[in-house]
Amino acid sequence: MSSAHYDVIIIGSGAGGGTLAYRLAPSGKRILLLERGDYVPREPDNWSTRAVNVEGKYQAREIWRDEAGKELHPHTNYWVGGNTKFYGAALFRLRREDFGELRHPGGVSPAWPISYEDLEPYYTEAEHLYQVHGERGEDPTEPPASAGYRYPAVSHEPRIQQLSDDFARLGCKPFHTPLGIMLDERRPRTSRCIRCGTCDGHPCLVNAKSDAQVVCVDPALAYPNVTLLTDAHVSRLETSSSGREVTRVLVDRAGTREVYSADIVVVSCGAINSAALLLRSANDRHPRGLANGSDVVGRHYMGHVNSVLMALSRCPNPTVFQKTLALNDFYFGSPEWRFPMGHISFVGKLDGVTLSAGAPAIAPGWTLDLMGRHSLDFWLTSEDLPDPGNRVTLNRQGEIVLSYTPNNGEGHKRLIAKLENLMQRQSRCTLHGSECHQGLFSRNLFIGQRIPLAGVAHQNGTIRFGHDPATSALDEHCRAHEVDNLYVVDASFFPSSGAVNPALTIMANALRVGDRILERLGVSGRREATGTEVVTLGVGASA
Ligand SMILES: Cc1cc2nc3c(=O)[nH]c(=O)nc-3n(C[C@H](O)[C@H](O)[C@H](O)COP(=O)(O)OP(=O)(O)OC[C@H]3O[C@@H](n4cnc5c(N)ncnc54)[C@H](O)[C@@H]3O)c2cc1C
Ligand code: SF4
Repeated sequence: MSSAHYDVIIIGSGAGGGTLAYRLAPSGKRILLLERGDYVPREPDNWSTRAVNVEGKYQAREIWRDEAGKELHPHTNYWVGGNTKFYGAALFRLRREDFGELRHPGGVSPAWPISYEDLEPYYTEAEHLYQVHGERGEDPTEPPASAGYRYPAVSHEPRIQQLSDDFARLGCKPFHTPLGIMLDERRPRTSRCIRCGTCDGHPCLVNAKSDAQVVCVDPALAYPNVTLLTDAHVSRLETSSSGREVTRVLVDRAGTREVYSADIVVVSCGAINSAALLLRSANDRHPRGLANGSDVVGRHYMGHVNSVLMALSRCPNPTVFQKTLALNDFYFGSPEWRFPMGHISFVGKLDGVTLSAGAPAIAPGWTLDLMGRHSLDFWLTSEDLPDPGNRVTLNRQGEIVLSYTPNNGEGHKRLIAKLENLMQRQSRCTLHGSECHQGLFSRNLFIGQRIPLAGVAHQNGTIRFGHDPATSALDEHCRAHEVDNLYVVDASFFPSSGAVNPALTIMANALRVGDRILERLGVSGRREATGTEVVTLGVGASA
Protein backbone atom coordinates (compact mmCIF):
# COMPACT_ATOMS: atom_id res chain seq x y z
CA MET A 1 0.00 0.00 0.00
CA SER A 2 1.51 3.32 -1.03
CA SER A 3 0.48 6.75 0.19
CA ALA A 4 1.48 10.32 -0.54
CA HIS A 5 0.26 13.87 -0.13
CA TYR A 6 -0.15 16.32 -3.03
CA ASP A 7 -1.34 19.88 -3.46
CA VAL A 8 -3.98 18.79 -5.98
CA ILE A 9 -5.34 15.42 -7.03
CA ILE A 10 -7.28 15.30 -10.29
CA ILE A 11 -9.33 12.16 -10.91
CA GLY A 12 -9.86 11.50 -14.63
CA SER A 13 -7.84 12.86 -17.55
CA GLY A 14 -10.51 13.69 -20.17
CA ALA A 15 -11.84 17.00 -21.44
CA GLY A 16 -12.26 18.34 -17.89
CA GLY A 17 -9.45 16.71 -15.91
CA GLY A 18 -6.85 16.83 -18.69
CA THR A 19 -7.50 20.51 -19.38
CA LEU A 20 -7.33 21.34 -15.67
CA ALA A 21 -3.98 19.51 -15.34
CA TYR A 22 -2.66 21.64 -18.20
CA ARG A 23 -3.82 24.81 -16.48
CA LEU A 24 -2.30 23.92 -13.10
CA ALA A 25 0.96 22.38 -14.36
CA PRO A 26 3.07 25.58 -14.59
CA SER A 27 2.22 26.52 -10.98
CA GLY A 28 4.97 24.32 -9.54
CA LYS A 29 2.39 22.75 -7.20
CA ARG A 30 2.50 18.98 -6.73
CA ILE A 31 -0.25 17.56 -8.89
CA LEU A 32 -1.35 13.94 -9.13
CA LEU A 33 -3.49 12.85 -12.07
CA LEU A 34 -5.28 9.55 -11.45
CA GLU A 35 -6.67 7.80 -14.54
CA ARG A 36 -8.37 4.42 -14.53
CA GLY A 37 -7.32 3.72 -18.13
CA ASP A 38 -3.99 3.44 -19.90
CA TYR A 39 -2.70 5.18 -23.04
CA VAL A 40 -4.58 4.09 -26.17
CA PRO A 41 -2.10 1.78 -27.94
CA ARG A 42 -0.95 3.24 -31.26
CA GLU A 43 -1.68 0.53 -33.80
CA PRO A 44 -3.33 0.12 -37.22
CA ASP A 45 -6.61 -0.85 -35.53
CA ASN A 46 -6.96 2.78 -34.42
CA TRP A 47 -8.23 3.43 -37.92
CA SER A 48 -10.08 0.16 -38.52
CA THR A 49 -13.86 0.64 -38.68
CA ARG A 50 -14.24 -3.07 -37.93
CA ALA A 51 -12.08 -2.98 -34.79
CA VAL A 52 -13.58 0.28 -33.54
CA ASN A 53 -17.22 0.15 -34.58
CA VAL A 54 -18.01 -3.55 -34.89
CA GLU A 55 -15.70 -5.18 -32.33
CA GLY A 56 -15.71 -2.23 -29.93
CA LYS A 57 -12.02 -2.86 -29.30
CA TYR A 58 -11.43 0.28 -27.24
CA GLN A 59 -14.81 0.52 -25.52
CA ALA A 60 -15.16 0.14 -21.73
CA ARG A 61 -15.78 -3.47 -20.77
CA GLU A 62 -18.00 -2.54 -17.86
CA ILE A 63 -21.62 -3.58 -17.45
CA TRP A 64 -24.16 -1.03 -16.25
CA ARG A 65 -27.89 -1.60 -15.79
CA ASP A 66 -30.97 0.20 -16.96
CA GLU A 67 -33.87 0.92 -14.64
CA ALA A 68 -35.31 -2.55 -15.20
CA GLY A 69 -32.01 -4.23 -14.33
CA LYS A 70 -31.19 -5.07 -17.94
CA GLU A 71 -27.52 -5.02 -18.97
CA LEU A 72 -26.17 -1.86 -20.60
CA HIS A 73 -22.84 -1.94 -22.41
CA PRO A 74 -21.91 1.72 -22.27
CA HIS A 75 -20.38 3.30 -25.35
CA THR A 76 -17.73 5.07 -23.34
CA ASN A 77 -13.96 4.96 -23.23
CA TYR A 78 -11.54 4.70 -20.31
CA TRP A 79 -8.18 5.93 -21.53
CA VAL A 80 -5.74 8.77 -20.93
CA GLY A 81 -7.54 11.69 -22.58
CA GLY A 82 -10.94 10.13 -21.80
CA ASN A 83 -13.61 10.29 -24.47
CA THR A 84 -11.79 13.05 -26.33
CA LYS A 85 -9.51 10.30 -27.74
CA PHE A 86 -12.56 9.17 -29.69
CA TYR A 87 -14.55 12.31 -30.18
CA GLY A 88 -15.31 14.00 -33.47
CA ALA A 89 -13.59 17.20 -32.24
CA ALA A 90 -16.53 19.44 -33.24
CA LEU A 91 -15.82 22.18 -30.71
CA PHE A 92 -18.79 24.50 -30.23
CA ARG A 93 -19.56 27.23 -27.76
CA LEU A 94 -22.98 27.07 -26.19
CA ARG A 95 -25.14 29.91 -27.45
CA ARG A 96 -25.42 32.97 -25.24
CA GLU A 97 -29.16 32.23 -24.73
CA ASP A 98 -28.34 28.73 -23.45
CA PHE A 99 -27.02 30.35 -20.26
CA GLY A 100 -30.46 31.84 -19.57
CA GLU A 101 -33.80 30.15 -19.12
CA LEU A 102 -35.28 28.76 -22.33
CA ARG A 103 -38.84 27.52 -22.75
CA HIS A 104 -39.44 24.27 -24.58
CA PRO A 105 -42.76 22.50 -25.14
CA GLY A 106 -41.51 19.78 -22.79
CA GLY A 107 -40.60 22.22 -19.98
CA VAL A 108 -37.92 24.70 -19.02
CA SER A 109 -34.23 24.56 -19.72
CA PRO A 110 -32.95 26.28 -16.57
CA ALA A 111 -30.51 29.20 -16.41
CA TRP A 112 -26.88 28.74 -15.40
CA PRO A 113 -25.45 30.53 -12.34
CA ILE A 114 -22.87 32.17 -14.61
CA SER A 115 -23.43 34.13 -17.78
CA TYR A 116 -22.01 33.53 -21.23
CA GLU A 117 -19.77 36.57 -20.66
CA ASP A 118 -18.22 34.87 -17.59
CA LEU A 119 -17.13 31.94 -19.72
CA GLU A 120 -16.32 33.82 -22.93
CA PRO A 121 -12.60 34.48 -22.28
CA TYR A 122 -12.15 30.82 -21.45
CA TYR A 123 -13.97 29.72 -24.60
CA THR A 124 -11.51 31.80 -26.59
CA GLU A 125 -8.59 30.31 -24.72
CA ALA A 126 -9.90 26.76 -25.10
CA GLU A 127 -10.39 27.32 -28.85
CA HIS A 128 -6.81 28.41 -29.18
CA LEU A 129 -5.47 25.63 -26.96
CA TYR A 130 -7.40 22.93 -28.83
CA GLN A 131 -6.47 24.50 -32.19
CA VAL A 132 -10.04 24.92 -33.34
CA HIS A 133 -10.33 25.56 -37.08
CA GLY A 134 -13.37 27.65 -37.94
CA GLU A 135 -14.80 30.79 -39.50
CA ARG A 136 -16.48 33.45 -37.36
CA GLY A 137 -19.61 35.15 -38.64
CA GLU A 138 -21.07 32.26 -40.63
CA ASP A 139 -23.17 30.60 -37.91
CA PRO A 140 -26.34 32.70 -37.41
CA THR A 141 -26.64 31.72 -33.73
CA GLU A 142 -22.97 32.15 -32.84
CA PRO A 143 -22.45 34.10 -29.61
CA PRO A 144 -20.13 37.13 -29.57
CA ALA A 145 -16.46 36.24 -29.32
CA SER A 146 -13.50 38.34 -28.18
CA ALA A 147 -11.16 36.80 -30.77
CA GLY A 148 -11.29 35.01 -34.07
CA TYR A 149 -10.33 31.42 -34.64
CA ARG A 150 -6.57 31.05 -35.00
CA TYR A 151 -6.91 28.43 -37.72
CA PRO A 152 -8.93 28.59 -40.94
CA ALA A 153 -12.03 26.46 -41.31
CA VAL A 154 -11.59 22.97 -42.71
CA SER A 155 -12.73 23.10 -46.35
CA HIS A 156 -15.70 21.17 -47.69
CA GLU A 157 -15.11 18.36 -50.14
CA PRO A 158 -17.14 18.74 -53.39
CA ARG A 159 -20.26 16.78 -52.35
CA ILE A 160 -20.50 18.71 -49.09
CA GLN A 161 -19.86 22.01 -50.84
CA GLN A 162 -22.71 21.16 -53.22
CA LEU A 163 -24.99 20.49 -50.28
CA SER A 164 -23.90 23.70 -48.60
CA ASP A 165 -24.69 25.65 -51.79
CA ASP A 166 -28.08 23.97 -51.95
CA PHE A 167 -28.87 24.82 -48.34
CA ALA A 168 -27.82 28.44 -48.92
CA ARG A 169 -29.99 28.66 -52.03
CA LEU A 170 -32.92 27.46 -49.92
CA GLY A 171 -32.42 30.40 -47.57
CA CYS A 172 -30.39 28.71 -44.82
CA LYS A 173 -27.03 29.76 -43.43
CA PRO A 174 -24.84 26.65 -43.53
CA PHE A 175 -21.47 27.12 -41.87
CA HIS A 176 -18.16 25.36 -41.36
CA THR A 177 -18.12 23.16 -38.27
CA PRO A 178 -15.44 24.37 -35.82
CA LEU A 179 -13.01 21.45 -35.61
CA GLY A 180 -10.08 20.58 -33.37
CA ILE A 181 -7.91 18.79 -35.89
CA MET A 182 -4.35 19.83 -36.74
CA LEU A 183 -4.89 20.12 -40.47
CA ASP A 184 -2.78 22.50 -42.53
CA GLU A 185 -4.43 22.53 -45.92
CA ARG A 186 -1.93 25.02 -47.28
CA ARG A 187 1.04 22.81 -46.42
CA PRO A 188 -0.24 19.26 -46.89
CA ARG A 189 3.28 17.80 -47.01
CA THR A 190 4.00 18.85 -43.42
CA SER A 191 0.45 18.85 -42.06
CA ARG A 192 0.20 16.68 -38.99
CA CYS A 193 -3.38 15.70 -39.88
CA ILE A 194 -3.79 13.81 -43.15
CA ARG A 195 -7.57 14.28 -43.42
CA CYS A 196 -8.53 10.64 -43.18
CA GLY A 197 -11.99 9.04 -43.08
CA THR A 198 -11.65 7.52 -39.60
CA CYS A 199 -11.64 10.49 -37.23
CA ASP A 200 -15.05 10.65 -35.53
CA GLY A 201 -15.28 7.74 -33.08
CA HIS A 202 -11.68 6.64 -33.66
CA PRO A 203 -8.42 7.53 -31.93
CA CYS A 204 -5.97 9.41 -34.17
CA LEU A 205 -3.06 7.16 -35.07
CA VAL A 206 -0.83 10.15 -35.86
CA ASN A 207 -1.84 12.20 -32.80
CA ALA A 208 -3.22 15.01 -34.96
CA LYS A 209 -6.60 15.25 -33.28
CA SER A 210 -6.76 17.90 -30.56
CA ASP A 211 -7.65 15.51 -27.78
CA ALA A 212 -6.99 16.05 -24.09
CA GLN A 213 -4.04 13.64 -24.01
CA VAL A 214 -2.15 15.21 -26.90
CA VAL A 215 -3.02 18.84 -26.17
CA CYS A 216 -3.08 18.89 -22.37
CA VAL A 217 -1.95 15.79 -20.48
CA ASP A 218 1.31 15.17 -22.32
CA PRO A 219 2.39 18.84 -22.12
CA ALA A 220 1.44 18.93 -18.42
CA LEU A 221 3.62 15.89 -17.79
CA ALA A 222 6.63 17.81 -19.10
CA TYR A 223 6.55 19.55 -15.70
CA PRO A 224 8.39 17.67 -12.94
CA ASN A 225 5.67 18.58 -10.44
CA VAL A 226 2.97 16.66 -12.37
CA THR A 227 2.56 12.89 -11.97
CA LEU A 228 0.18 10.65 -13.88
CA LEU A 229 -0.82 7.22 -12.59
CA THR A 230 -2.60 5.09 -15.18
CA ASP A 231 -4.75 2.03 -14.41
CA ALA A 232 -5.59 3.88 -11.21
CA HIS A 233 -9.28 3.43 -10.47
CA VAL A 234 -10.53 5.68 -7.70
CA SER A 235 -13.07 3.66 -5.76
CA ARG A 236 -13.91 5.97 -2.87
CA LEU A 237 -13.29 9.34 -1.27
CA GLU A 238 -13.14 9.57 2.52
CA THR A 239 -13.60 12.69 4.62
CA SER A 240 -12.47 14.10 7.96
CA SER A 241 -14.80 13.42 10.88
CA SER A 242 -16.50 16.79 10.31
CA GLY A 243 -17.20 15.76 6.72
CA ARG A 244 -15.89 19.14 5.51
CA GLU A 245 -12.71 17.90 3.75
CA VAL A 246 -11.78 14.95 1.61
CA THR A 247 -8.82 13.42 3.44
CA ARG A 248 -8.20 10.14 1.60
CA VAL A 249 -8.50 9.10 -2.03
CA LEU A 250 -8.71 5.31 -2.30
CA VAL A 251 -7.26 3.86 -5.47
CA ASP A 252 -7.36 0.31 -6.84
CA ARG A 253 -4.31 -0.17 -8.98
CA ALA A 254 -2.92 -3.41 -10.39
CA GLY A 255 -4.79 -5.42 -7.78
CA THR A 256 -3.64 -3.39 -4.78
CA ARG A 257 -5.18 -0.60 -2.73
CA GLU A 258 -3.30 2.68 -2.66
CA VAL A 259 -4.26 5.77 -0.67
CA TYR A 260 -3.44 9.38 -1.59
CA SER A 261 -4.39 12.74 -0.13
CA ALA A 262 -4.31 16.34 -1.28
CA ASP A 263 -5.18 19.84 -0.19
CA ILE A 264 -7.61 19.96 -3.12
CA VAL A 265 -9.35 17.00 -4.77
CA VAL A 266 -10.94 17.39 -8.19
CA VAL A 267 -13.34 14.80 -9.55
CA SER A 268 -13.53 14.61 -13.36
CA CYS A 269 -14.51 11.04 -14.21
CA GLY A 270 -17.25 11.97 -16.70
CA ALA A 271 -20.79 12.80 -15.60
CA ILE A 272 -21.89 9.23 -14.89
CA ASN A 273 -18.76 7.97 -13.15
CA SER A 274 -18.30 11.17 -11.12
CA ALA A 275 -21.82 10.86 -9.75
CA ALA A 276 -21.22 7.17 -9.06
CA LEU A 277 -18.00 7.99 -7.18
CA LEU A 278 -19.71 10.54 -4.95
CA LEU A 279 -22.61 8.16 -4.27
CA ARG A 280 -20.15 5.36 -3.50
CA SER A 281 -18.39 7.67 -1.02
CA ALA A 282 -21.37 8.02 1.33
CA ASN A 283 -20.46 8.13 5.04
CA ASP A 284 -22.04 9.15 8.34
CA ARG A 285 -21.73 12.85 7.54
CA HIS A 286 -22.88 12.39 3.97
CA PRO A 287 -25.41 9.57 4.19
CA ARG A 288 -26.89 10.14 0.70
CA GLY A 289 -23.48 10.36 -0.95
CA LEU A 290 -20.61 12.79 -0.71
CA ALA A 291 -21.67 16.45 -1.08
CA ASN A 292 -25.23 15.28 -1.59
CA GLY A 293 -27.27 16.98 1.12
CA SER A 294 -29.41 18.40 -1.70
CA ASP A 295 -30.05 14.90 -3.10
CA VAL A 296 -29.21 16.16 -6.59
CA VAL A 297 -26.07 14.02 -7.11
CA GLY A 298 -26.82 11.56 -9.90
CA ARG A 299 -30.07 13.30 -10.84
CA HIS A 300 -30.90 15.42 -13.93
CA TYR A 301 -28.85 13.15 -16.19
CA MET A 302 -28.89 14.51 -19.73
CA GLY A 303 -27.37 13.17 -22.92
CA HIS A 304 -29.12 15.16 -25.66
CA VAL A 305 -31.73 13.87 -28.06
CA ASN A 306 -29.50 12.60 -30.86
CA SER A 307 -30.14 10.87 -34.18
CA VAL A 308 -27.89 9.62 -36.92
CA LEU A 309 -29.77 9.91 -40.19
CA MET A 310 -28.51 8.77 -43.56
CA ALA A 311 -29.75 10.75 -46.56
CA LEU A 312 -29.43 8.45 -49.54
CA SER A 313 -28.70 9.97 -52.91
CA ARG A 314 -28.60 8.43 -56.35
CA CYS A 315 -25.22 10.07 -56.76
CA PRO A 316 -22.39 8.65 -54.67
CA ASN A 317 -20.87 10.57 -51.80
CA PRO A 318 -17.12 10.06 -52.12
CA THR A 319 -16.33 12.47 -49.26
CA VAL A 320 -13.46 11.33 -47.03
CA PHE A 321 -13.80 13.80 -44.14
CA GLN A 322 -17.47 14.66 -44.00
CA LYS A 323 -17.82 16.51 -40.71
CA THR A 324 -17.24 20.00 -42.08
CA LEU A 325 -20.78 21.35 -42.51
CA ALA A 326 -23.37 22.37 -39.92
CA LEU A 327 -26.72 24.15 -39.78
CA ASN A 328 -28.13 26.08 -36.83
CA ASP A 329 -31.01 27.83 -38.60
CA PHE A 330 -33.56 25.94 -36.50
CA TYR A 331 -31.62 26.03 -33.23
CA PHE A 332 -34.11 28.39 -31.58
CA GLY A 333 -37.11 27.49 -33.73
CA SER A 334 -38.73 28.67 -36.93
CA PRO A 335 -41.54 31.06 -37.88
CA GLU A 336 -44.12 28.24 -37.49
CA TRP A 337 -42.63 26.68 -34.34
CA ARG A 338 -41.33 29.15 -31.76
CA PHE A 339 -39.47 26.61 -29.63
CA PRO A 340 -35.90 25.36 -29.91
CA MET A 341 -35.35 22.47 -32.32
CA GLY A 342 -31.61 21.98 -32.32
CA HIS A 343 -28.53 21.51 -34.39
CA ILE A 344 -27.78 19.67 -37.64
CA SER A 345 -24.29 18.48 -38.53
CA PHE A 346 -22.51 15.33 -39.61
CA VAL A 347 -20.92 12.21 -38.22
CA GLY A 348 -17.81 10.75 -39.84
CA LYS A 349 -18.50 8.99 -43.14
CA LEU A 350 -20.29 5.69 -42.50
CA ASP A 351 -19.23 2.60 -44.44
CA GLY A 352 -20.76 -0.84 -44.99
CA VAL A 353 -18.67 -2.34 -42.18
CA THR A 354 -19.84 0.21 -39.64
CA LEU A 355 -23.43 -0.11 -40.80
CA SER A 356 -23.32 -3.89 -40.30
CA ALA A 357 -22.98 -3.22 -36.55
CA GLY A 358 -26.19 -1.17 -36.43
CA ALA A 359 -28.40 -3.08 -38.88
CA PRO A 360 -30.05 -0.05 -40.48
CA ALA A 361 -33.27 -0.28 -42.39
CA ILE A 362 -31.99 -1.28 -45.81
CA ALA A 363 -33.54 0.81 -48.53
CA PRO A 364 -35.16 -1.35 -51.24
CA GLY A 365 -32.61 -2.23 -53.90
CA TRP A 366 -29.62 -1.20 -51.79
CA THR A 367 -26.92 -3.10 -49.91
CA LEU A 368 -25.14 -1.81 -46.81
CA ASP A 369 -22.00 -1.15 -48.84
CA LEU A 370 -23.93 0.76 -51.46
CA MET A 371 -25.78 2.74 -48.82
CA GLY A 372 -22.43 3.63 -47.23
CA ARG A 373 -21.11 4.84 -50.57
CA HIS A 374 -24.13 6.99 -51.35
CA SER A 375 -25.22 8.39 -48.01
CA LEU A 376 -24.79 11.77 -46.42
CA ASP A 377 -24.62 10.92 -42.73
CA PHE A 378 -26.25 13.55 -40.56
CA TRP A 379 -26.02 14.01 -36.81
CA LEU A 380 -28.99 15.80 -35.27
CA THR A 381 -28.91 17.11 -31.71
CA SER A 382 -31.74 18.57 -29.67
CA GLU A 383 -31.83 19.48 -26.02
CA ASP A 384 -33.20 17.07 -23.46
CA LEU A 385 -34.40 18.64 -20.23
CA PRO A 386 -33.04 18.01 -16.74
CA ASP A 387 -35.54 15.66 -15.09
CA PRO A 388 -34.71 14.67 -11.50
CA GLY A 389 -36.03 11.18 -12.27
CA ASN A 390 -33.40 10.67 -15.00
CA ARG A 391 -30.56 9.60 -12.84
CA VAL A 392 -27.49 7.60 -11.97
CA THR A 393 -27.78 5.31 -8.94
CA LEU A 394 -25.90 2.26 -7.66
CA ASN A 395 -27.48 -1.14 -7.13
CA ARG A 396 -26.65 -3.50 -4.27
CA GLN A 397 -23.74 -4.95 -6.20
CA GLY A 398 -22.34 -1.43 -6.62
CA GLU A 399 -23.08 -1.42 -10.36
CA ILE A 400 -24.09 1.77 -12.11
CA VAL A 401 -27.80 2.00 -12.88
CA LEU A 402 -28.89 4.55 -15.47
CA SER A 403 -32.58 5.44 -15.43
CA TYR A 404 -33.77 7.59 -18.28
CA THR A 405 -37.14 8.48 -19.73
CA PRO A 406 -36.76 10.47 -22.94
CA ASN A 407 -38.29 13.95 -22.91
CA ASN A 408 -38.76 17.00 -25.08
CA GLY A 409 -38.95 14.96 -28.30
CA GLU A 410 -41.24 17.19 -30.34
CA GLY A 411 -38.56 19.72 -31.35
CA HIS A 412 -36.33 16.87 -32.50
CA LYS A 413 -39.09 15.37 -34.66
CA ARG A 414 -39.62 18.76 -36.24
CA LEU A 415 -35.89 19.13 -36.83
CA ILE A 416 -35.86 15.83 -38.71
CA ALA A 417 -38.83 17.02 -40.77
CA LYS A 418 -36.97 20.25 -41.57
CA LEU A 419 -33.96 18.29 -42.81
CA GLU A 420 -36.12 15.96 -44.89
CA ASN A 421 -37.81 18.97 -46.45
CA LEU A 422 -34.49 20.62 -47.28
CA MET A 423 -33.15 17.41 -48.81
CA GLN A 424 -36.22 17.04 -51.02
CA ARG A 425 -35.74 20.56 -52.32
CA GLN A 426 -32.11 20.09 -53.37
CA SER A 427 -31.44 20.89 -56.99
CA ARG A 428 -27.72 21.25 -57.50
CA CYS A 429 -27.33 17.69 -58.77
CA THR A 430 -26.89 18.14 -62.52
CA LEU A 431 -27.81 14.53 -63.23
CA HIS A 432 -30.91 13.99 -61.09
CA GLY A 433 -31.85 17.40 -59.68
CA SER A 434 -34.15 17.03 -56.67
CA GLU A 435 -34.80 13.40 -57.68
CA CYS A 436 -31.30 12.62 -56.46
CA HIS A 437 -32.52 12.39 -52.84
CA GLN A 438 -33.99 8.98 -52.01
CA GLY A 439 -35.06 9.57 -48.43
CA LEU A 440 -33.77 9.74 -44.87
CA PHE A 441 -32.91 6.48 -43.13
CA SER A 442 -32.19 5.97 -39.48
CA ARG A 443 -28.80 4.38 -38.92
CA ASN A 444 -30.25 1.70 -36.69
CA LEU A 445 -33.47 -0.11 -37.49
CA PHE A 446 -34.01 -1.42 -34.00
CA ILE A 447 -33.66 1.77 -32.06
CA GLY A 448 -35.84 3.88 -34.27
CA GLN A 449 -34.17 7.17 -34.85
CA ARG A 450 -32.69 7.84 -31.45
CA ILE A 451 -29.33 6.85 -30.07
CA PRO A 452 -29.98 4.16 -27.44
CA LEU A 453 -29.45 4.62 -23.71
CA ALA A 454 -25.98 3.00 -23.83
CA GLY A 455 -24.92 5.82 -26.15
CA VAL A 456 -23.72 8.11 -23.38
CA ALA A 457 -21.32 10.22 -25.48
CA HIS A 458 -22.89 13.52 -24.40
CA GLN A 459 -23.55 12.60 -20.75
CA ASN A 460 -23.85 15.63 -18.48
CA GLY A 461 -25.77 17.26 -15.67
CA THR A 462 -25.51 14.81 -12.76
CA ILE A 463 -23.74 17.12 -10.25
CA ARG A 464 -25.20 20.46 -11.20
CA PHE A 465 -23.74 23.79 -10.13
CA GLY A 466 -25.82 26.68 -8.77
CA HIS A 467 -26.09 29.34 -6.10
CA ASP A 468 -28.52 27.44 -3.88
CA PRO A 469 -27.15 24.47 -1.87
CA ALA A 470 -30.70 23.12 -1.64
CA THR A 471 -30.92 22.59 -5.41
CA SER A 472 -27.31 22.15 -6.51
CA ALA A 473 -24.25 20.22 -5.33
CA LEU A 474 -21.60 22.67 -6.56
CA ASP A 475 -21.24 26.42 -6.22
CA GLU A 476 -20.61 28.67 -9.22
CA HIS A 477 -16.88 27.83 -9.07
CA CYS A 478 -17.70 24.11 -9.22
CA ARG A 479 -16.67 23.60 -5.62
CA ALA A 480 -18.92 21.33 -3.53
CA HIS A 481 -21.21 23.37 -1.28
CA GLU A 482 -20.64 20.89 1.54
CA VAL A 483 -16.98 19.88 1.15
CA ASP A 484 -14.39 22.68 1.19
CA ASN A 485 -11.65 21.02 -0.82
CA LEU A 486 -13.75 19.14 -3.39
CA TYR A 487 -14.29 20.34 -6.98
CA VAL A 488 -15.91 18.74 -10.04
CA VAL A 489 -14.76 19.82 -13.52
CA ASP A 490 -16.21 17.39 -16.05
CA ALA A 491 -19.60 17.51 -17.81
CA SER A 492 -21.46 16.90 -14.53
CA PHE A 493 -21.83 20.57 -13.67
CA PHE A 494 -24.21 21.49 -16.56
CA PRO A 495 -27.65 22.59 -15.23
CA SER A 496 -28.92 22.40 -18.83
CA SER A 497 -27.27 21.09 -21.95
CA GLY A 498 -28.10 23.30 -24.94
CA ALA A 499 -28.05 21.48 -28.25
CA VAL A 500 -24.44 21.67 -29.40
CA ASN A 501 -21.67 19.22 -28.54
CA PRO A 502 -20.45 19.67 -24.97
CA ALA A 503 -16.64 19.28 -24.98
CA LEU A 504 -15.54 22.89 -25.57
CA THR A 505 -17.75 24.06 -22.69
CA ILE A 506 -16.19 21.42 -20.40
CA MET A 507 -12.69 22.52 -21.45
CA ALA A 508 -13.42 26.24 -21.06
CA ASN A 509 -14.96 25.64 -17.63
CA ALA A 510 -11.93 23.58 -16.53
CA LEU A 511 -9.70 26.56 -17.40
CA ARG A 512 -12.04 28.85 -15.46
CA VAL A 513 -12.13 26.63 -12.38
CA GLY A 514 -8.37 26.18 -12.72
CA ASP A 515 -7.94 29.91 -12.20
CA ARG A 516 -10.00 29.77 -8.99
CA ILE A 517 -7.89 26.86 -7.76
CA LEU A 518 -4.66 28.73 -8.56
CA GLU A 519 -5.93 31.72 -6.58
CA ARG A 520 -6.75 29.46 -3.69
CA LEU A 521 -3.29 27.91 -3.83
CA GLY A 522 -1.82 31.39 -3.68
CA VAL A 523 -0.31 31.23 -7.13
CA SER A 524 -0.25 34.81 -8.34
CA GLY A 525 -0.46 35.55 -12.04
CA ARG A 526 -1.12 32.65 -14.30
CA ARG A 527 1.89 31.15 -16.05
CA GLU A 528 1.39 29.74 -19.52
CA ALA A 529 2.32 26.12 -20.00
CA THR A 530 5.50 25.71 -22.04
CA GLY A 531 5.79 21.93 -22.17
CA THR A 532 7.48 20.56 -25.26
CA GLU A 533 4.24 19.48 -26.88
CA VAL A 534 2.75 22.94 -26.48
CA VAL A 535 5.64 24.47 -28.38
CA THR A 536 5.43 21.92 -31.18
CA LEU A 537 1.66 22.17 -31.49
CA GLY A 538 2.19 24.96 -33.99
CA VAL A 539 3.53 22.39 -36.44
CA GLY A 540 0.79 21.46 -38.84
CA ALA A 541 -1.27 24.43 -37.84
CA SER A 542 -2.45 26.56 -40.68
CA ALA A 543 -2.67 30.03 -39.22
C1 LIG B 1 -17.59 8.80 -30.24
C2 LIG B 1 -17.71 10.13 -29.56
C3 LIG B 1 -17.73 11.28 -30.32
C4 LIG B 1 -17.85 12.53 -29.69
N1 LIG B 1 -17.78 13.66 -30.47
C5 LIG B 1 -17.80 14.87 -29.87
C6 LIG B 1 -17.63 16.05 -30.63
O1 LIG B 1 -17.43 16.01 -31.84
N2 LIG B 1 -17.68 17.24 -29.97
C7 LIG B 1 -17.87 17.32 -28.61
O2 LIG B 1 -17.93 18.42 -28.08
N3 LIG B 1 -18.03 16.21 -27.88
C8 LIG B 1 -17.98 14.99 -28.46
N4 LIG B 1 -18.08 13.87 -27.70
C9 LIG B 1 -18.28 14.03 -26.24
C10 LIG B 1 -16.99 14.38 -25.53
O3 LIG B 1 -15.99 13.44 -25.83
C11 LIG B 1 -17.29 14.41 -24.03
O4 LIG B 1 -18.30 15.39 -23.81
C12 LIG B 1 -16.10 14.78 -23.18
O5 LIG B 1 -14.98 13.96 -23.43
C13 LIG B 1 -16.51 14.64 -21.71
O6 LIG B 1 -15.47 15.13 -20.89
P1 LIG B 1 -15.39 14.72 -19.36
O7 LIG B 1 -14.19 15.35 -18.80
O8 LIG B 1 -16.72 14.98 -18.76
O9 LIG B 1 -15.24 13.12 -19.37
P2 LIG B 1 -14.22 12.15 -20.17
O10 LIG B 1 -13.58 12.85 -21.31
O11 LIG B 1 -14.99 10.93 -20.48
O12 LIG B 1 -13.12 11.85 -19.09
C14 LIG B 1 -13.37 11.12 -17.92
C15 LIG B 1 -12.11 10.35 -17.56
O13 LIG B 1 -12.22 9.84 -16.24
C16 LIG B 1 -11.71 8.52 -16.19
N5 LIG B 1 -12.36 7.85 -15.06
C17 LIG B 1 -13.66 7.50 -14.95
N6 LIG B 1 -13.91 6.97 -13.74
C18 LIG B 1 -12.74 6.99 -13.06
C19 LIG B 1 -12.36 6.56 -11.76
N7 LIG B 1 -13.26 6.07 -10.89
N8 LIG B 1 -11.05 6.69 -11.40
C20 LIG B 1 -10.14 7.21 -12.25
N9 LIG B 1 -10.46 7.64 -13.51
C21 LIG B 1 -11.75 7.54 -13.90
C22 LIG B 1 -12.08 7.95 -17.55
O14 LIG B 1 -11.27 6.84 -17.89
C23 LIG B 1 -11.83 9.16 -18.46
O15 LIG B 1 -10.50 9.21 -18.91
C24 LIG B 1 -17.96 12.61 -28.28
C25 LIG B 1 -17.91 11.45 -27.51
C26 LIG B 1 -17.79 10.22 -28.13
C27 LIG B 1 -17.74 8.97 -27.28
S1 SF4 C 1 -5.34 12.31 -39.30
FE1 SF4 C 1 -6.71 14.07 -39.07
S2 SF4 C 1 -8.69 13.35 -39.83
FE2 SF4 C 1 -7.43 11.51 -39.42
S3 SF4 C 1 -7.92 10.91 -37.29
FE3 SF4 C 1 -6.14 12.24 -37.21
S4 SF4 C 1 -6.99 14.28 -36.87
FE4 SF4 C 1 -8.67 13.00 -37.59
